[in-house]
Amino acid sequence: LSQISVHSLPCVSVLSTGDELIPPGSGPLKPGQIYNSNGLMIQGLLRQLGVQETHATHCRDDLQTTIDTLSQLIATHDVIILSGGVSVGDHDQIKPALLALGIQPDLWRVKIKPGKPFLFAQTQRQSDGRPVYLFGLPGNPVSSYVTFQLFVRPALLRWMGSADVEPVRTPVSINTALHNDGNRPHYLRGQIRQGQFFPQAMQQSHALFALSQANALLKLDEGQSLATGELAEALML
Ligand code: AMP
Ligand code: MG
Repeated sequence: LSQISVHSLPCVSVLSTGDELIPPGSGPLKPGQIYNSNGLMIQGLLRQLGVQETHATHCRDDLQTTIDTLSQLIATHDVIILSGGVSVGDHDQIKPALLALGIQPDLWRVKIKPGKPFLFAQTQRQSDGRPVYLFGLPGNPVSSYVTFQLFVRPALLRWMGSADVEPVRTPVSINTALHNDGNRPHYLRGQIRQGQFFPQAMQQSHALFALSQANALLKLDEGQSLATGELAEALML
């Protein structure tokens, strides 16, 4: 064959937001500071998908700075992955900044736990009319991770020409009785060992260490109960 069709890799930028963030490795935390763990985590997730070269930047919780940063990134990237600033607090500037740029989000807030504040928007690059996709991931690290796996990963794989974009599912038996008494489907993080699903003890959306030890997600619908030994389907991470 002298000519074959190939897919291009998207040009992706990762934008973390938050006045409280300092780069990992930049010294001890002062009161009110936390390390920007999402930036590195999202870049790692992108590398796993084959997107090697990523641009990563940070922006303070200031409306004008957010507007300026977003408009620069939109001019130069195909996909922008935002972390934080998509919730309903006074310091959450992503949605107001998008609206100020004339971009109406296609969706905002999804009925899952963790990950409720997730936002998706699209626009066109002025220079060449090409589409630009913006994924707003919640700031809490586990929420960022779960929404990346559920929403960003399939979209990027589709962009890159993959036919197989869904997470791998595997049957498991539940190691301990589970019940979801909340009003949203819950994606529990856990470990699969010898066909059994062991939920992590820490299920809070900041519990990054527990997430780092998990290798699967188990979706428990609102009101759903699973008894010990019952069969279910887990999503492999
Ligand atoms: P936000 O959605 O911006 O309100 O953030 C929700 C929580 O996640 C807050 O406790 C933030 O400090 C935390 N957070 C936001 N961005 C990051 C990040 N890049 N790395 C780690 N934690 C973050
Ligand atoms: Mg924030």
